[in-house]
Amino acid sequence: MPAIPPMDGKVNHAPHVVLLGAGASIAAYLDWGSEGNELPSMQGLIDTIGLREDIEKAGFEANGLNFEAFYDELASSGEHPDLLYEIESKVYEYFSSLSLPDKPTIYDYLILSLREKDIIATYNWDPFLLQAYMRNENIAEGRRPQLAFLHGNVSIGVCEKDRVSGVNGRVCSQCDQLLSPSKLLYPVKHKDYNSDPFIKGEWDALRSSLNYGYFLTVFGYSAPKTDVEARSLMLEVWEKNRSLELAEVEVIDIRLKEEVEDSWSEFFFSHHYMVVDDVFDSYLFTHPRRSCDAFSSATLMCAPWHDNSYPRFEKLSELQEWIEPLIEEERRYDDEEEQFSGKPLEPNTEG
Ligand SMILES: [Zn+2]
Repeated sequence: MPAIPPMDGKVNHAPHVVLLGAGASIAAYLDWGSEGNELPSMQGLIDTIGLREDIEKAGFEANGLNFEAFYDELASSGEHPDLLYEIESKVYEYFSSLSLPDKPTIYDYLILSLREKDIIATYNWDPFLLQAYMRNENIAEGRRPQLAFLHGNVSIGVCEKDRVSGVNGRVCSQCDQLLSPSKLLYPVKHKDYNSDPFIKGEWDALRSSLNYGYFLTVFGYSAPKTDVEARSLMLEVWEKNRSLELAEVEVIDIRLKEEVEDSWSEFFFSHHYMVVDDVFDSYLFTHPRRSCDAFSSATLMCAPWHDNSYPRFEKLSELQEWIEPLIEEERRYDDEEEQFSGKPLEPNTEG
């Protein structure tokens, strides 16, 4: 018998685990209308961040260069340390320069769609996730998901001595020294997720949530087959999840359904998965803050809830006002043990 997730009436305390890859940031960037600095793909990196000249000056041919393979070769051979340094600094600087526009973005909807029992683990270097996390503190303080940065992140600083991480540019809560920028882990062939203590800690957080998660959403992350280390780190704990036979996997991906199934089949238990191409059609965004509760109600108690799909908002404050009743309901549950209603919120009055 599979273990039933930790339930209390309609409230499900098991974590919803969300994994983000480059496709999530690209979807967010396109969705907000591509304002601001361009979001580079691995292939477009050379020209977007101005590396062409450095690469050619060091005697390499930049046309048709596969950046990942090139970086891998450069890092493992130990030759051209100056070029390696130049590449890493420019990548870091460029990603640091990116920022969210004022209007609500997919990242804001995402932060507000999860509770403090949940986790968002990202492979992305860009600062969007942390920016969205910080600007929704006013409405959801103490009620936001955990974050894990699996490849490091330009918005995160660390104090290795005290094992503290925080917003890059701030001081360590223990020793008051300025945090140092977290290292970025590059997509090399053989990654070592254990060599950097900060990155190892992020992986530990993801693995512990995967181990008892009830819902896994993968958004815009297509690499599991090639990223052998990442895949086995995740699969190892997911397969041991005692609620696995009841859990659901949702993949948000613009690729063909067959391709997605091929990438993720090892993570699916029987037919317990869904594939959508638009995050706004996902279970996460049609049951914000209540995905695990609604899903267990539908599948374990045969009492499905109505969808509570996100309306689209022009202003962040409107999105926050809309979601606030759910946060209030969570406070009432904690303080007065009042159960969740499972009823949808008012649709957007603006239409
Ligand atoms: Zn410190």
